[in-house]
Amino acid sequence: DIAMYQSKKNAVRRYTVYDPSLSQSTPELLSLENDLRLAAARGELELYYQPKVCAHSMDVQGAEALVRWRHPVMGMVNPAEFIPIAEETGLIVPIGRWVLRRACLQMVRWLRNGMDIPSVSVNVSVRQFQDPAFVVSVAQILEETGLSPSRLDLEITESVMSGDVTRAVAILHELKDLGVTLSMDDFGTGYSSLNYLKTFPIDTLKIDQTFVRDAARNPKDAAIVTTIVTLAQNLGFSVVAEGVETSDHAALLRDMGCHTFQGYWIAKPLPAAEFGGFWHERLVL
Ligand code: C2E
Ligand code: CA
Ligand code: CA
Ligand code: CA
Repeated sequence: DIAMYQSKKNAVRRYTVYDPSLSQSTPELLSLENDLRLAAARGELELYYQPKVCAHSMDVQGAEALVRWRHPVMGMVNPAEFIPIAEETGLIVPIGRWVLRRACLQMVRWLRNGMDIPSVSVNVSVRQFQDPAFVVSVAQILEETGLSPSRLDLEITESVMSGDVTRAVAILHELKDLGVTLSMDDFGTGYSSLNYLKTFPIDTLKIDQTFVRDAARNPKDAAIVTTIVTLAQNLGFSVVAEGVETSDHAALLRDMGCHTFQGYWIAKPLPAAEFGGFWHERLVL
């Protein structure tokens, strides 16, 4: 059995790296899809939370919810492995809804316990974003959980621009009208067009970790980071640097004018209870 799951895992890896079309045909992947279909109901999905902190005071400015799948046989499966399958099969829609509800409930719980975390960020994949019921489901979840919309931040990627741009912009406005904030994730890696930054009602740019990681060594990456920070400031967006792994990264980014950090140097994604511990420790420091 273990060997079979191991081979599934390898199959997934091959599939995510090489050939997405394989997923339709391999029985192993169909079975993994079935496992994924039941994962939420079986309580195998879990959210971890990674702090975003102020570059100067180290105050917590938010928490990004990151999904984890604890497979009964395969153990922890990386989102990089199962999110693509969830996207391709459409399972991302119910899973994404589960993630959103879960993150909102957690945030309500934290606020009730006096943890005044400014906001929780939830990743939204393109497929979810394009689902006609998406905006309504966000509104419903906010109402049902009682979370103030301003406490919810949605992280989208540039790939939402790969389809119908007019429609994408309309959806973003509908979301903003609900009162949530919007972040552009992995900025600079995808469908980068400076043009859409004019029309997108977004609040935050998240500089992709590949630029951040290399900025200390490579002057070109450093130039890109500086340019994104300046661009964001001039357009009135806030900037988050992802993948801040060392104090050198932090010092450099601070000098470049980046105000919010996220990365292993501050904390890895943490189970909700440990995030609580992190929050309280920060207050004592
Ligand atoms: P992402 O949204 O860009 O999330 C950041 C990823 O970088 C996370 O990986 C996080 O653990 C990792 N990370 C954070 N700080 C550092 C650092 O200092 N160094 C390095 N090397 N990595 C760092 P994770 O949790 O494995 O998630 C991977 C991707 O899967 C996410 O990338 C996101 O695209 C997707 N994902 C995760 N959770 C969800 C979800 O609930 N819904 C959707 N649609 N996608 C999700
Ligand atoms: Ca993200
Ligand atoms: Ca990212
Ligand atoms: Ca990413």
